[in-house]
Amino acid sequence: MASSLDPRLASLGSFLQGYPTIQYATPNSPNYSTLRVTYSLDNHAVPLAIVRPKNAEEVAATVRFARANGIKPVVRSGGNSLFGKSMIQDALIIDMRDIAYININDSKTSATVGGGILFSDLAEVLTKEGLATALGTIPFIGYVGWSTYGGYGPFSAQYGLGCDNIMGAKVVNWKGEVVEADTDMLRGIRGAGGAFGPIVELTIKLYPLMNILAGMIIYDSTDIVVTAQNFGFGYQKLSTEGLPPALSAQQLVMNSPHGKVFACAFIWGSDDFETGQVYLAKIAALGNVVMNTVGPNTVAGYLQHLKTVVPPSAYGSMETISIRELNPEAIAVIARNVEKMPSINGAKFTMHELRGPSAAPNSESIFGAREPHMVLEIIETVVEQADLKRTEDWADTFIGELRKMDPGNILRSTYISVTRPGSNSFENIFGSNYGTLLEMKRKHDPQGIFDLAQPEVNSLK
Ligand SMILES: Cc1cc2nc3c(=O)[nH]c(=O)nc-3n(C[C@H](O)[C@H](O)[C@H](O)COP(=O)(O)OP(=O)(O)OC[C@H]3O[C@@H](n4cnc5c(N)ncnc54)[C@H](O)[C@@H]3O)c2cc1C
Repeated sequence: MASSLDPRLASLGSFLQGYPTIQYATPNSPNYSTLRVTYSLDNHAVPLAIVRPKNAEEVAATVRFARANGIKPVVRSGGNSLFGKSMIQDALIIDMRDIAYININDSKTSATVGGGILFSDLAEVLTKEGLATALGTIPFIGYVGWSTYGGYGPFSAQYGLGCDNIMGAKVVNWKGEVVEADTDMLRGIRGAGGAFGPIVELTIKLYPLMNILAGMIIYDSTDIVVTAQNFGFGYQKLSTEGLPPALSAQQLVMNSPHGKVFACAFIWGSDDFETGQVYLAKIAALGNVVMNTVGPNTVAGYLQHLKTVVPPSAYGSMETISIRELNPEAIAVIARNVEKMPSINGAKFTMHELRGPSAAPNSESIFGAREPHMVLEIIETVVEQADLKRTEDWADTFIGELRKMDPGNILRSTYISVTRPGSNSFENIFGSNYGTLLEMKRKHDPQGIFDLAQPEVNSLK
């Protein structure tokens, strides 16, 4: 940990005297411990300092200072990296949360958003205008950290992944200049996120959407193995018949006050409620429904509701694997292991499905998983640290069994944002785009200023 005598802190102090509007905290500041808090409660990293710039030029000045003083900058937005990627030991943290503007263009087809904008704030503004964009449902997630590394969510099938909705970006480059990302850098940002420097602004696509159907279907889980199997086989059948882009039916196993339940987070992202009700009935028919909260809502309203039920932080992280289809082998492994899920608050199993436009090769992005697939997430997070060992053991067994499945059904790529460091290589994650990523990194970060940014590929090698 940096002591108050650390010469880097003295240099930082002098630098910040020239930028009195930049709020900051060093380890001795009273607000340091509050600013240091992120989703991951077991990240004990002590950064050199945390700065909170209010605009692109202040971010640029911070990068120039860091480069001149041999200090590594790291960006934090929502702070929801499960693996501590935005709060790193000895780094200079650039906390983007004060750069959170949203400007909608006149034709309401795109918006420019600040690098620190969170889902809930974005949804709030868009819903008021009868607009939407590709978004996830966890309200406190940072839009830039989510979208630029992929960005799965309930609108993926109709609008595409978050990264495919990025039209432009303003980045602070390795020299500390605010630049408009060129076509090449933009391709890299769509998959490798902040690897080329802090993203101070994105231009994103918007779509007209006022109302949605949203809520949770909870199935009788007395015999959760049977419930999981019935849902799995039934969903795969519906999927083979063809599902409409507006439908998202995300299966979820969680612990509720009434015990372990198999549920489906249902979202119908279209004003055509008549067709939505047809698909709601089809999804509900995949099990014996004991509770159904699906009803008319807005994206902002739904996120607002989730704000009250999703814990803002937790101990532990997750394991992941991506598969091509829910075949009988996968369904059996899932059913067997969700039954063994410890009855601990926080433990969950869920999956994101990618189908539609983003599940096809895309030369404008280096995101690695361009085929229809399911991202399986074994969430071992817990609210009480003492429970962690049990959920970790469960997750280890579960992921071990999934990895032993038919390799023909397993993607080499895993979703970087939920991939435990070291559990998969960047070569696998980015696939045939890995070489391009290395070239881009050498070109856009030749001195390795942003080497701590995810994916941590070293441009000097
Ligand atoms: C509870 C929970 C639920 C989740 N659900 C989903 C989901 O449904 N779908 C999904 O796709 N993912 C999901 N994720 C993963 C999440 O999208 C990623 O962890 C995402 O990167 C978080 O972004 P953030 O800004 O909130 O977090 P941070 O920790 O602040 O940032 C994450 C990474 O992005 C970088 N970054 C953030 N902002 C910028 C910027 N402006 N410029 C440059 N780099 C930046 C950071 O440096 C860091 O490497 C979930 C995570 C959690 C904890």
